[in-house]
Order: sequence, then C-alpha cells, then structure tokens
Amino acid sequence: MTQRIPALFIGHGNPMNALLSNPWTEGWAAIGASIPLPRAVLSISAHWYLPGIAVTSMRRPRTIHDFGGFPQHLYELEYPARGDLQLAHRVRELLDPVPVEADLGWGLDHGTWSVLCHLYPKADIPVVQLSIDASKTAMFHYRLGQSLRPLRDEGVLLMGSGNIVHNLGAYAWSRSSVQPFDWAQRFESRCRALIRQREHAALVDYEGLGEVAAMCIPTPEHYLPLLYVLGAAHESDAIQFPVEGIDGGSISMLAVQMG
Ligand code: ZN
Repeated sequence: MTQRIPALFIGHGNPMNALLSNPWTEGWAAIGASIPLPRAVLSISAHWYLPGIAVTSMRRPRTIHDFGGFPQHLYELEYPARGDLQLAHRVRELLDPVPVEADLGWGLDHGTWSVLCHLYPKADIPVVQLSIDASKTAMFHYRLGQSLRPLRDEGVLLMGSGNIVHNLGAYAWSRSSVQPFDWAQRFESRCRALIRQREHAALVDYEGLGEVAAMCIPTPEHYLPLLYVLGAAHESDAIQFPVEGIDGGSISMLAVQMG
C-alpha cells in the first residue's frame, strides 16, 4: 500500500522567495526532504481564484509569472514540472457531481512554483492545479478538501498555498525585518490554537473570529487554501507547524502540516 502523504498548507508570501534562501525557503526544502515522496502534487493556490472550478489538464503546464514590478530574473525562472492527466481526471471523479472544467489555458502560478522550486527543486514530480471558486462559501471549500482526502493514500501531496494573514496594504515592502503587527500576531496565534485543537468549524467561519479577522483576511483567496488542507485531514494526523514567522509585519508565513 502507498504510504499516506501529509496535507500541507504553505504560507508563500513574497514571490521573491522563489529566488531567496531564508528560514522560510529552507523550511520548505526541509519539508520536501522529510515527507514521503509523492508521485504527484495537487496544488490549490490563492492565485487561481475565479468563478468556477477548473483543474489543469495539460501535459506541460507553463510557468506563469503572475505579478508585476519584480526583478527580471524572477520572470525568467521556469518550473518545468510535467502535468498529470490521470490525476486531473481523478480530481474530477472525486469532486463529482460538482462540475470541474478540464483547463488547458492556465498552468503553474507563483503560488505553486515559488514554493515547489524549494520543496522539489528538480521539478521531477508532476503538478496539477485546482482553482478556487470565488463564488462559493468557505464551507464549500472545506468540503472539497474532504472529498479530495483519498488522494493522500494514492501518493498525492495535497498542497494549499496562500497565507493565513495576508494584508498587502499594511505590508512593509522595503523592510522585511519589520516587527509583526499586533493584530496579525494575535490572529495567527488564534488560528494556530484552533488548528491544534481541530476546531475546524471556527476556522471555516473565520469571519466570526473577531474584528481582526477582517484586517488579516481583507480578501479570502489567500486564506481559503488552508480550508482544503483542513478538510483533507484525518483525526489521527499529527499536526505540525514546520515554518513560521510574519513577513513585513502583515504576512503570516505559517506552514501547517497535517500527517
Ligand atoms: Zn500570494
């Protein structure tokens, strides 16, 4: 029997992390080296957020440089992982009767490749992306994570890529060593405690987590990938936070490993 693969949430933060060696990217590399080697990755990235559900269904997904104003060498970075048509088909099967479009136009966005280039630098593991349907409730996303849980026993790494706290308006672009804002720290601590206690209902109903929730999650796309990972968790999973820290005052880099 294939070894069960953890479900993993990564706080990806600044796209420049793709090129940097810092405690966060070193932590991502360490995760890649410590968990069972998956046969494929299913990535749910904050940066593919649209009305509708689609799964990348091409043999050679392109590397998408979906950002502006960064140094030229970041635009030249390619992550040439193959796609996996069989996995794309399996995702559609598991989510049935929810309609999932077989996508031929997207590829791998930086939520996926800026992290995977550290987890699996050789790009030798096939990668499929699943979009986040912007028209659905948080509970819907959590339930999709539950539906995808069997993949963990089929050699697939289910990876959510976003940030639990993501306030770009408050982010100190020029000073990454700035102290975390108190509200960011408090909200992250609360989420961490709820994850540890397996209080998934409260995490799904994140808008009910007090006033700071609106500051930490001004838009939901970076938070929702966490709900897929929680949905894919088993009661028996060990819970770890293998990477932590708050970048630029307002971006939580917390990683959550279930299993
Ligand atoms: Zn992002």
